[in-house]
Amino acid sequence: MYLAQIYRCTIVIQYTIRQILTIKKYNIMKRTYIKDLNNFIGKEISISGWVDIRRDHGKLIFIDFRDMSGKIQAVALPSNKEAHEVANRIRTEWVVRATGIVNKRPEKMISKNKETGVIEPNGDIEIELKNIDVLNEAVTPPFDIRSDGKEVGEETRLKYRYIDLRRHRSQKNIRSRHRIVKHVRDMLDENGFIEIETPILTKSTPEGARDYVVPSRIENGLFYALPQSPQQYKQLLMVAGFEKYFQIARCFRDEDTRSDRQPEFTQMDLEMSFVDREDVMALNEKMLIEIVTKQFPEKKIQAIPFPRITYKDSMDKYKTDRPDIRNDKNDPDLLAFCWVIDFPFFEKTDEDPLTGRSGWTFTHNPFSAPKPEFMSSLMKQENIGDILTTQYDVVLNGFEIGGGSIRNHTPAALQKVFEIMGYPKEQIEKNFGHMLHALGSGAPPHGGIAWGIDRLVTLMNNESSIREVIAFAKTGEGKDLMMDAPSEISEKQFRELGIEIKKKHK
Ligand code: ASP
Repeated sequence: MYLAQIYRCTIVIQYTIRQILTIKKYNIMKRTYIKDLNNFIGKEISISGWVDIRRDHGKLIFIDFRDMSGKIQAVALPSNKEAHEVANRIRTEWVVRATGIVNKRPEKMISKNKETGVIEPNGDIEIELKNIDVLNEAVTPPFDIRSDGKEVGEETRLKYRYIDLRRHRSQKNIRSRHRIVKHVRDMLDENGFIEIETPILTKSTPEGARDYVVPSRIENGLFYALPQSPQQYKQLLMVAGFEKYFQIARCFRDEDTRSDRQPEFTQMDLEMSFVDREDVMALNEKMLIEIVTKQFPEKKIQAIPFPRITYKDSMDKYKTDRPDIRNDKNDPDLLAFCWVIDFPFFEKTDEDPLTGRSGWTFTHNPFSAPKPEFMSSLMKQENIGDILTTQYDVVLNGFEIGGGSIRNHTPAALQKVFEIMGYPKEQIEKNFGHMLHALGSGAPPHGGIAWGIDRLVTLMNNESSIREVIAFAKTGEGKDLMMDAPSEISEKQFRELGIEIKKKHK
């Protein structure tokens, strides 16, 4: 009895000591971010991160460490045998926890920018290593990640994207994307918008591109389509009374290979009720100006308010509906926004080879309303080629970064658009019956816009390809080289989906 009590007591004491030691250990070892090291001069700290580069000077071994917040130089002195031995062994991209003292560098060792002479971040301090724990080793990287990557083939960068993303340029772009998107979310939230997710497995909207389709296992022979945009859903949310919707939405369009297109891309999609064209344009202009002034203070907006150019003037003067109106095209920090308005609603389709006749199709969005003065032409199906739409596109330095319109909110007007495009009554009912019913169920006047987030982030970061701002980008041919997609699926999957492939891809 007595012995058992002593035994239990010993266990408790042992446990308590272990706890105290652990707490102490973790207090000493608490991780400091590299960006904060300047506050710890003369103190012992512990950092966690990657070996950026190692320079062996025989006795002295210099190692640059990197974490998400920055880089720091560390030195292993031969007097500290243990740290020196590990410093000798570790290689680029190994993952480590390093402990040491933060020291001021001697004046002549301070690292300064060669051009400006300004001290580099952490250029005036270094860590004298006490200990290095290797948390994980790494195979030799397929390319140098300390450069901007421009010398590396894009396919290799995409295949090893998880390594490529470690480079400063990629980290800066992806973090900038986060800040832009967060800023948009915050601004819209302050303005009473709410973010609502809409389905990915759906029946697609006719936005003019080919759909990606997904076969149904439960009902063989039926297919979902991935949304080309949340257009119909966002309008239905207006019918549902939300009044102010937005979404950072993924859109899917199966378009032919183009160097700077991605099969999936991101839109900042919004819709508002009881508004006219001016309201939507004013809100979006305000948001774009705020993003630039708050997130990119070094950039200059050429003209505020954004100039407005009609489609006709743009075509006459610039031969494009995406005019680059910059006064100085050599200035990388000049942002020339403009609105392009007054687009024709419809354009002629190619001639039917059998009948020799051509019909009409929409230029932008079949759900748009005509400008109010053209509503009677739409309803009477008169002078179709002259009808102007409420569509507004926002263009930046020659790239369309967004577009939207006021919508037809009565079923009769939407029905007319489909009739002009030559859709038979039954097809209109089958494909758009739900929209017509919704518009006839108390739909408020509404309109919206969508921004191409990938393009906006690309331009803001002076990049030339949207792939630089998409974490896991696909090639121009729509391939994910890292995951190896698209790829074959198993016989079992084919059987379950009731699909037989006639011609196999080689
Ligand atoms: N859904 C349209 C698009 O993706 C944008 C809009 O009109 O809101 O271009």
